[in-house]
Amino acid sequence: MTRAALILLLAPTGPVFGATQTVAFTRVNVVDGTAPAPRPEQTVIIAGRRIAEVGPSASTAIPADARVVDGRGKYLIPGLWDMHVHTAVPGGRAALALYVANGVTGVRDLAGDWAEITAWRGEIASGALLGPRIVASGPYIEGGDVPIAHVLARTPAEAGTAVDSLARLGVDFVKLHSQFQRDVYFAALREARSRRFAVAGHVPRSITVREASDSGLTSIEHMLQIPTPCTPAESLALVPRFPVQSVLGRCTSEDLSPLFARFVRNGTWVVPTLVAAVEIASWPKRELPGDSFAAYVPDTLRRYVAEIFPMPDSIPPDADVVGHALFAKRVDLVGVLHRAGVGILPGTDAPLRNSPPGFGLHAELELFVRGGMSPFDALRAATLEPARFLGMLDSLGTVQPGKLADLVLLEANPLTDVSHLRRIGAVMWNGRLLDGDARARLLREAQEAAAR
Ligand SMILES: [Zn+2]
Repeated sequence: MTRAALILLLAPTGPVFGATQTVAFTRVNVVDGTAPAPRPEQTVIIAGRRIAEVGPSASTAIPADARVVDGRGKYLIPGLWDMHVHTAVPGGRAALALYVANGVTGVRDLAGDWAEITAWRGEIASGALLGPRIVASGPYIEGGDVPIAHVLARTPAEAGTAVDSLARLGVDFVKLHSQFQRDVYFAALREARSRRFAVAGHVPRSITVREASDSGLTSIEHMLQIPTPCTPAESLALVPRFPVQSVLGRCTSEDLSPLFARFVRNGTWVVPTLVAAVEIASWPKRELPGDSFAAYVPDTLRRYVAEIFPMPDSIPPDADVVGHALFAKRVDLVGVLHRAGVGILPGTDAPLRNSPPGFGLHAELELFVRGGMSPFDALRAATLEPARFLGMLDSLGTVQPGKLADLVLLEANPLTDVSHLRRIGAVMWNGRLLDGDARARLLREAQEAAAR
């Protein structure tokens, strides 16, 4: 047997993405959350997993062994974060590459089998698996039974035991789900905070967001229980028409600015996940924007999503009219919260029908801008702010020397139009380059695998 044939035999069946190399992005416009205008004509040198140098192209030397990527007319941004996803689902492993292909080099996972996620993290770090950085809660704490990885807590004592078991697993943060008695929710929150865990949460109906914020909830997911500012007439007319539609929130004409000032004071962040609510707002309309990406999603995953997220069969005839009006209010609320100084992070609740892994984040950021954020603030919310929220700003979130090389090369300026975030030329994740050809191949292969 020849040596080449032997190497072929010994090679793993899948592709290996392990190689880092010295890379120089030359004459590129650098855009990150530190300044609201591009820095033109920059050279960015990547060595190993980190950004070694950023400087004017005229005066920055390119190492002899560097692979040069011509950045003329292009825009280099930090890798994007999707701050609310679920990776550990049927077909989820194969879908991890879709995040990276979409420029999402980091995700925050809010429920999943801890052993599975940590195994993936190891494979991703070694380069054997193409996927984003994953910050994860492991199983969430839940007050009743659900078919998703969770730790049950029906009493304050069980809440303590639950947090204890998560601490022993070594999870990155704690997530509280929905079906709690008040005292159990507060006990879990108190116990987790006393152990210095960040706590992401749903806010059950028995608890107000004010109480949750005052008790130290770090992030409110889906804007649950945050009221929507409405005129008195709207607060009468815009009442959810079927049970699931209540996630679109309650309309109120009361002054909400003291509540939002409280969020700022308490350091309570909000993860709106607007893109995931589109299906509820539009029901019973059959087509959704996210359907255009279904061809990339593994069949097992598509079937799972259809099963876990059933929509009602019979609903009042004006449900979609009310749904759209409520949804428009939720979009505006993001701008209201942002102007009030509340920290907003983009999350998609992927994988849902309208938020396929990776693809949904761009739509979420477009909705942020529709709600009144500038494209700069939307970009910042997906790069610098997640790094700050996660306490990782020393190593991620901006294009600066010493940081880990998670980068996206765009064909157009994201500050003039946030939808330019979809125009991806190349992605660098953890110092590994997914160039335009490799990215196109990856997406083609995902489509072929999904069709089989
Ligand atoms: Zn979720």
